[in-house]
Amino acid sequence: LFITFEGGEGAGKTSVLAALTERLKEEGYDVLPTREPGGIEIAEKIREIILDRKHTAMDGRTEALLYAAARRQHLVEKVLPALEAGKIVLCDRFVDSSLAYQGHARGLGMEEVLQINEFAIEQCMPDMTLFFDIKPERGLQRIASNDAREKNRLDVEKLDFHQKVYEAYQKLIVRYPERFHVIDADQSFEAVQEEAMKQLSSFLID
Ligand code: C5P
Ligand code: MG
Repeated sequence: LFITFEGGEGAGKTSVLAALTERLKEEGYDVLPTREPGGIEIAEKIREIILDRKHTAMDGRTEALLYAAARRQHLVEKVLPALEAGKIVLCDRFVDSSLAYQGHARGLGMEEVLQINEFAIEQCMPDMTLFFDIKPERGLQRIASNDAREKNRLDVEKLDFHQKVYEAYQKLIVRYPERFHVIDADQSFEAVQEEAMKQLSSFLID
């Protein structure tokens, strides 16, 4: 099973992913936690290029193509072999992030970005997507109080940008109602983790 974690900044998806990995392992599941670029050398190098020049000269379409290329390599080298081996793959961000960040927030168009991603991933969409729902102003607040360096990085983008990201995810939830499972992320870490674990467990039992 291929399960992706999505959401804006400060939603806590990365910490919840780590916690759920441990809990599922304790229950005897074979779990592979990963994130894009996921420790695959080629994808990591691509990611370095994106982040290096992110806020300066890089053209939006170039950025979208590089994300799609990194995604392709990570999928082929890491995700697909794990799925074939019967593992549960938990992936921090996937194609929906590109639709939200590059497609909507950067204004390239969600359909256009979907097209290049369909080329990259072929038919390999997630079986389930957990969306960590927190309003951008709340998520950014959380980051500001936890991590000053991360706050500086995010200040480069205006609140308006993060609102567009949020808006895009709302569209995706409507578009893929079967795949998307919404978790209220504006709660304590423990409560968010519990809610995510519940949703995941009921999906695994089905
Ligand atoms: O996963 P995480 O929240 O750490 O993502 C870090 C940053 O990567 C996000 O703030 C976002 O700016 C950027 N990103 C992006 N497009 C993607 C995935 C991530 O711009 N498709
Ligand atoms: Mg994160």
